[in-house]
Amino acid sequence: MFDADDACLKCSLCVTACPVYREDPQFPGPKVLGPEWHRAALALPGLTAADHVDDCTFCQLCEAACPADVPVAHLIAHHKASQAKSPVVRLRDAVLARPHLMARAPGLAGLGGPPARWVGLSVETRRPRPQPLRWPAEPAATGARGIVALFVDCFTRAYDGGAAEAASRLLKAWGYAVRWVPRESRCCGAAAYAAGQPATARRIAAATAEDLGVNHGVQAIVTLNATCDGTLRDEWPRYFHQDVPAPVVPFAAFALAEAPPAFWDSLVASPSGLVFVHTTCRAKVSQGEGALLALARRAGADVVERLDVECCGAAGSYAFKAEHHGVAQRLGRRAAGQVGGRSGTLLVDSGTCALHLSQMTGLYAEHPARWLDQRRRGSEANLGRSTAARRT
Ligand code: SF4
Ligand code: SF4
Repeated sequence: MFDADDACLKCSLCVTACPVYREDPQFPGPKVLGPEWHRAALALPGLTAADHVDDCTFCQLCEAACPADVPVAHLIAHHKASQAKSPVVRLRDAVLARPHLMARAPGLAGLGGPPARWVGLSVETRRPRPQPLRWPAEPAATGARGIVALFVDCFTRAYDGGAAEAASRLLKAWGYAVRWVPRESRCCGAAAYAAGQPATARRIAAATAEDLGVNHGVQAIVTLNATCDGTLRDEWPRYFHQDVPAPVVPFAAFALAEAPPAFWDSLVASPSGLVFVHTTCRAKVSQGEGALLALARRAGADVVERLDVECCGAAGSYAFKAEHHGVAQRLGRRAAGQVGGRSGTLLVDSGTCALHLSQMTGLYAEHPARWLDQRRRGSEANLGRSTAARRT
């Protein structure tokens, strides 16, 4: 199916790296659910899915730990596809696998009480509130350093429009013309893939790739969501056979590389308090840890603390499903223990991780673009006040 899908050495390093295996004694672990199940399925066509395969969050930490490059998490994603599910659960999963369609009716996320229970949604897990977004006109590129495409993913489009607007303001302040993409509400395919619907994921990604394909001449595609970022960079070329028309760069990395020194210096006038940073599991696997921490420090945050969690348990729509509520809570508790009731801001570039971690820890979770933009405006206001005070 993939290169190296049968290269497993049985070393169990993937098992050691798996956060769900550590928290859930019933979870068989990546080695059993990935390469071992795959071998058995080749020998016995029609083999039914193993119990608890759907409890895998698709964090890919197992795959990153594998010395033989076995695509462990991707084998598990295909394994999930062979599960038998009730018609209601199939319907729920089909809807959650298409967040770009959900995003066109964002109020759907608020479904509560008996209807939510009936379709198998967790009524305890916090769900997002709609935040309307005004799509800007095509930018004029005259005099700009270059054109960047801002990838406004389906979650941001429906529930965190402020992050896209903040990122856009900052990119313009740094001299770029900003083109928002994709034009329609579309998905990178991550949700469907993680839920064990690889064929659907590829179809969804193909439609998005067609939309992105018209964006020639852009210097970079700047992403706001760590999962979409990793999916565009890693899954698209390797597993979805889709081209991306420009390098994919997460917002934090782009800011560190392209924001001028005067911008960072200007933030000093705005105090930040205690700042926690969470690098999502998907970002760790795709880009490594460090960009968000570096951004917080470069922006002069007073005190920065890294959240010591691998996967927080949100995992896209994972924590929204009733049967995953317990695992999602256990994974998130580690963050709650570390924060220990302190107040502060949590920087995280994933809307669902932000929701879950703010519920678990009580912290105010912010997208780094919103946080930077607020601090920039706070600095300007503070400097304006001190200038006015000097004049009087
Ligand atoms: S999948 Fe990789 S890490 Fe896991 S047991 Fe096999 S070789 Fe080791
Ligand atoms: S993808 Fe994550 S949750 Fe799934 S088996 Fe691998 S490490 Fe465990």
